[in-house]
Amino acid sequence: MCVTGEPDARKPARPVRGEADGNVITTAWMWITRASRLLHYVSVLVEEAVPQVIPATGNPIGVDLGISSLAVCSDGRPPIKHAKALRANLKRLKRYQRHLSRCKKGSKNREKARHQVARLHARIANIREDVLHQATSSLVHTPLSPSERISLKTHLASLLPLPKTKAEQKRGKKQVKKLIHQTTEINAPLRPQLLVLEDLNVEGMKRNRKLARAVSDVGMGEFRKQIEYKSLWNGEMLLFADRFFPSSKTCHGCHWKWEDMDLSDRIFICQNLACPLFQVPQDRDHNAAENLVSLADEYLASLR
Ligand SMILES: [Zn+2]
Repeated sequence: MCVTGEPDARKPARPVRGEADGNVITTAWMWITRASRLLHYVSVLVEEAVPQVIPATGNPIGVDLGISSLAVCSDGRPPIKHAKALRANLKRLKRYQRHLSRCKKGSKNREKARHQVARLHARIANIREDVLHQATSSLVHTPLSPSERISLKTHLASLLPLPKTKAEQKRGKKQVKKLIHQTTEINAPLRPQLLVLEDLNVEGMKRNRKLARAVSDVGMGEFRKQIEYKSLWNGEMLLFADRFFPSSKTCHGCHWKWEDMDLSDRIFICQNLACPLFQVPQDRDHNAAENLVSLADEYLASLR
C-alpha cells in the first residue's frame, strides 16, 4: 500500500489519499501509535463497501481450546498448534531486560536497550497474532476436509508453471493459498453454520501461577475476540457452552461422566459397559470437541 501525505504524530487521525492493490482510495485515515521513542506504528483505516453476508449452512464445529494445542476441532482436522511465541523468546527477552537494567539511567545505551526490549515484545505479539488469525480464519472459512484440501492444493499447484527459483516457488505457494481461499469463498453456504466454544474463565486461569504464563502465551482472549467478529462477517452463529459444562469429563458416546478425571489425564476411557466406546482410548481434547458439537445439535433443534 502506498499513501501520500506526511503522517503527523500530533494529529491522531487524518484523511489521506492513496492506492492499494491498484484501487484508488478516496477516504482513508492514518495515525501513528508510539511503542517506544524509536518504534512507531502507522495505522491506515480504509472505508470499504461490505458485501452482503450469505448465511452459512454447513455442519457445525465444536472447538476445544487448550494449552497443549491451541484448538482441537470436532470435524477431524489435525489439532491447531499454538505459537508459543513467548516461550521461544523468553531466554532472549530475559537477557535483553537484564542488559537494560544494567545500563546507566539517562544514557544513550539505555535508550537503545529499551528499544531492543520493545522490539522483541512487539515481535512476540506479532507472531502470536499471526497464528491466531490463521487459526480463526481457517475455522470460519474452510468447508474443506483435510483430504479435500490436499487434493485441491495439488490440483491448483499443477495448473501453475513449474517454479525455477525459490522466490517463484514461494510466490506459487502464495497464489495457491489465495486460490483455495477464493474457492472456499464461493462455497460460502458450506461454511459451518454454528461454532461452539467453551466460555473459558481466562482471567481465573491466569491466577493459577503454574498456568499463567502458558495461558497468556496462547492468547485465548484474542482468539475469542477474533472468532466473534469473523463468525459475524461470515454469516455464522457462535455458541458458548456454559462455564461449568463438563466437556472433558463426559463421554461423547453415552454421556457417562468420569468424575475424578485429572488435568493430566490426556486419554479419556469410557467405563460404561453399554457404550459403543467402552474402554476405547479417546483423545481428551477431541472428546471435549465432540461434546461441544453435540450442544450445537440441541441448539439448532431448539430453533426449529
Ligand atoms: Zn461412553
